[in-house]
Amino acid sequence: MSGVSQARADRLTGELASGGPGGSSLDGLLVTNLVNVEYLTGFTGTNGACLLTPERRVFLTDFRYAERAAEIEGWEVEIVSGQWLIGLAGHLEGRVGFEDDRVTVRTANELRDAAERVELVEAGGLVERLRRVKDADEVERVAAAAAMTDQLYELLIERGLSGQTEADVDRWLTRWMREQGAEPSFPPIVASGPNGASPHAEPGSREIGRGELVTIDMGIKLDSYCSDCTRTFATGAEADLDTLSREIYEITLRANEAGLAAVKAGAVGAEVDEVARAVIRDAGYGENFGHGLGHGVGLEIHEAPRLGPSSKDELMAGEVVTVEPGIYVSGATGVRIEDMVLTGENGIARNFSSIPKSLTFVP
Ligand code: ZN
Ligand code: ZN
Repeated sequence: MSGVSQARADRLTGELASGGPGGSSLDGLLVTNLVNVEYLTGFTGTNGACLLTPERRVFLTDFRYAERAAEIEGWEVEIVSGQWLIGLAGHLEGRVGFEDDRVTVRTANELRDAAERVELVEAGGLVERLRRVKDADEVERVAAAAAMTDQLYELLIERGLSGQTEADVDRWLTRWMREQGAEPSFPPIVASGPNGASPHAEPGSREIGRGELVTIDMGIKLDSYCSDCTRTFATGAEADLDTLSREIYEITLRANEAGLAAVKAGAVGAEVDEVARAVIRDAGYGENFGHGLGHGVGLEIHEAPRLGPSSKDELMAGEVVTVEPGIYVSGATGVRIEDMVLTGENGIARNFSSIPKSLTFVP
């Protein structure tokens, strides 16, 4: 990834005035979480940090990345050799925020020792909050990852599921992603029959039969951005499927649609969760939906905001979130239906998941 807009660092600079504990001001911010470093600079190596003040933007890395660092626009590059922290400390002045949620206590102590005249203050989460609202470039990358995922779903529907083990399907999905020059944004879930009752089932040696539900939860990471989509399919002919499976599919689909209809700027995570959860509870399956409704997606597969019973996150226009209710009936079967959408002022601005949600029968 290159050519990251300077607008991201500009926005972060604007946060310094109130980015410290209790809304106190910061003279600078040290960014060491590599995902946040990538967000600000486009750098994807394994060793890099950013120091940002109102006057300066310094990117620090080691000699291995000197060439790649030279391509980063808008940041002074400093190649640090040997004592990384000491090299860094020379740049710190005043009240400097650091990402206390990601830095080990030991590193924090070393940093304090190396930078004696500096007041290091806890400022974790600042960049993560900025990352919630996606810019146009990010939306296009997410959309491209989602479109590739939908393409794979179409191929999967054609290819069919029964007669293969879950692990076979998982390997086929993962290989296809790699052939496109992409990778899974998380290990795919392929959960058939009774295994569908576990939301986080790992694909195993069970052979997929006919007349059962199969939940596929997968996503692709392309150009650093993730997608996430779940569909539950039925195998075999319509007459093969039992009544319970049909019933929980229909309820989960209604919950998914109700949740999507509640997504808009200003809605609180817990409120959106409750709209979808109420559909499932009213149908008598409240105990069978044991996870949150959704999460943000971007550089990471799970990022802020959260949609869940205890989430106080207030949605903003331009966020990418999932809506993924499920019903899990232990020992029997399960359903989850997940769309990934862009939040707008008055509702969903865009649904990235285009694979139909009416119950689809595959071979
Ligand atoms: Zn998912
Ligand atoms: Zn998800």
